[in-house]
Amino acid sequence: MSKHIHRYRRVDIGRDRSVWVMKCIKIGCTHYVFMKTKLSAPLLRGQIAECNRCEEQMILDRRALRMTEPCCANCVKGKEEKQEKLKSAEDFFKGLEQGLSK
Ligand SMILES: [Zn+2]
Ligand SMILES: [Zn+2]
Repeated sequence: MSKHIHRYRRVDIGRDRSVWVMKCIKIGCTHYVFMKTKLSAPLLRGQIAECNRCEEQMILDRRALRMTEPCCANCVKGKEEKQEKLKSAEDFFKGLEQGLSK
């Protein structure tokens, strides 16, 4: 397997109790790193990884390491914006319905 930037996903590899690791999901790659807790992986902080959404290189930080599939700051922002847009569309249709029922 050629060297690549790992793309991480959080998985529990424990049997009797939870053992969380951040594992690379790329085909043929068996790389994984043990996490300290489910939401913190100090060993990975500051490491380069591939964003799970846009596939750009990113630096793993506390925020990213709390995610099941870490993604970069841009994608987190994009997601929030999308949710806001969805919400305003919802409000729009609600307003329409209310207008119709009058
Ligand atoms: Zn990998
Ligand atoms: Zn991204």
